[in-house]
Amino acid sequence: MINFDYLAGLMDADGHFTWSGGKYMAPDIGVTNTSQSLMLALTDFLGGSASPQRATCSDGCLDEAAHIHRRTDIWKWHLTGYRAVLVCRELAPRMVIKGAHAADLARQYDLHLVEMEGPARRSHHMVKEQKWWAARFGGA
Ligand SMILES: [Zn+2]
Repeated sequence: MINFDYLAGLMDADGHFTWSGGKYMAPDIGVTNTSQSLMLALTDFLGGSASPQRATCSDGCLDEAAHIHRRTDIWKWHLTGYRAVLVCRELAPRMVIKGAHAADLARQYDLHLVEMEGPARRSHHMVKEQKWWAARFGGA
């Protein structure tokens, strides 16, 4: 069962809080982990997307030139835009290690809202995300 307490622990261990995109910078949070089923559970919980990051090695790879040997697929779940900011506000007080990263991402979003371009800052995007959040988790 995924909830915000669980996600806070997961993000403390395997999470990232960054900005992504070129012209249209957007807050980007996510988890990199070997469990595909966990990534799908996160997508069910909050949306976002899950994708494989690196495939495992093929048979016979060890006969080839030196390389980083991979026996396990690595998956990444990530979420961008204003919803990621709302998640940061939930997670920050629950985290032990990276709470400041979560709080800082939300703060930077607020500080730079006026100068940001593109979908991540548009008010209709924010209103849509707030409505989604209220329908999913309650509150304003
Ligand atoms: Zn290999």
